[in-house]
Amino acid sequence: MLQYKNHLEKLAKLKVKEISLIENVQTFLDKIELNKDLNAFNFVFEDALEQAKIVEEKIFNGTYGKLAGMVIAIKDVLAIKDKPLTCSSKILENFNSVYTATAIQKLIDEDAIIIGKTNCDEFAMGSSNENSAFGKVLNPIDKTRVPGGSSGGSAVAVAANLCDVSLGTDTGGSIRQPASFCGIFGLKPTYGRVSRYGLTAFASSFDTIGPFANNVEDIALILSVLSGKDEFDSTSKEIDIPNFLELLNEKNKIKIGIPQEFFGEGLNEEIKNIIQKKIDFLSQNEKIEFVDIHLPHNQYSIATYYILTTAEASANLQRYDGVRYGVRDKNQNELDEMYTQTRSNGFGKEVKRRIMLGTYVLSSGYYDAYYTKAQKVRRLIQEDFQNAFKKVDVILTPTSPFTAFKIGEKLSNPLEMYLSDIYTTSANLAGIPGISIPVGNDSNGLPIGLQLLANQFNEALLLQTAKKLIHKINE
Ligand code: GLN
Repeated sequence: MLQYKNHLEKLAKLKVKEISLIENVQTFLDKIELNKDLNAFNFVFEDALEQAKIVEEKIFNGTYGKLAGMVIAIKDVLAIKDKPLTCSSKILENFNSVYTATAIQKLIDEDAIIIGKTNCDEFAMGSSNENSAFGKVLNPIDKTRVPGGSSGGSAVAVAANLCDVSLGTDTGGSIRQPASFCGIFGLKPTYGRVSRYGLTAFASSFDTIGPFANNVEDIALILSVLSGKDEFDSTSKEIDIPNFLELLNEKNKIKIGIPQEFFGEGLNEEIKNIIQKKIDFLSQNEKIEFVDIHLPHNQYSIATYYILTTAEASANLQRYDGVRYGVRDKNQNELDEMYTQTRSNGFGKEVKRRIMLGTYVLSSGYYDAYYTKAQKVRRLIQEDFQNAFKKVDVILTPTSPFTAFKIGEKLSNPLEMYLSDIYTTSANLAGIPGISIPVGNDSNGLPIGLQLLANQFNEALLLQTAKKLIHKINE
């Protein structure tokens, strides 16, 4: 166990020398080594110890940043200058970043300590962290099970206390679903809240960067640091950045919508019962009101998501051609043979499946039938949410239809794997923020996550609600 419950407490203890930052970082490094079998990290940065020395000095002389001493692990799809950036793919196995992602630079500028890069599904495509050139990641709660994906390594790093906080990315659920499988908090911010500069693109109109933590306070604190307009990402938005941490304890009355479509067929009975019990319990509180709502187009979200994201992925992944990035097959004399062999050997099975699907839906004969139509449905899904948020402040759903499944269980059936995202993809289609919070365990002791969704750029209310619910549930 850690000697503190959140970053503010850690910082207070560092200031009075109750904790030594160097020892703290060394303990994390030792734990990472001890828990190597979890395979959460692709790369561990021993130079974190040097950083700890510098940051400790700053703490003592009063020149420290907001995240001073927070030990953070980074999903290996984000760029850090002169460090490897593999996206857990063979095609980038020899690639080092030439610049640092804006999100990471902001953490460094506030004196966070980066301890390593975490394993994930290749190019963030997957729901189980089994599609990785670095091998699968194990769930620390039950090592025969997956941690979820694609940010599985980041979720495990936090759940197994191998760092304080981690960053993941969420294109269709890749922060919220592993957070739910590992029993921790995971936030997907509004699209445009956090700069994507330096995030390896999977589906550019869906991709977001967000934190995993063991508590809501750290999520709020780190979100304030990550947020903001960035001249290097034209889709990042110029909008006020609230002090999310200070706003956590606001005592507003909140109205929570329960979308009936998220509690029907396919949802595991135990998850349904636990969430229903929480709702019944929370509705006794006069500050929380629950109402039934409808999101009628959610039934199309998986299909829409897999048409649009594969289309975008097929375009984004064209750049890995053996010329500009990473690995090149050197045995070919002809240029097109070199492309083919490089890509055939460099990409894994799931990535190839997505490129082929994406190329298909964009092909001239099928473009209107699939791509154009999916864009229209995306609009309908967005409108469902806009209508819902006229009636309620926040929407509550399960994060995933099931708890962590067995390693290998869904590998041979991609469609079943894709269904993991049935409750998460609509937030990415609509660009709204969502958080998964841990609310209990099933009869196998596996964590259950509850998802809260709010309107665009309303993370303050989202986090307040998360805090309120967790507080009441734990009372
Ligand atoms: N599991 C989803 C997929 O495979 C989501 C991935 C993500 O959010 N990066 O596409």
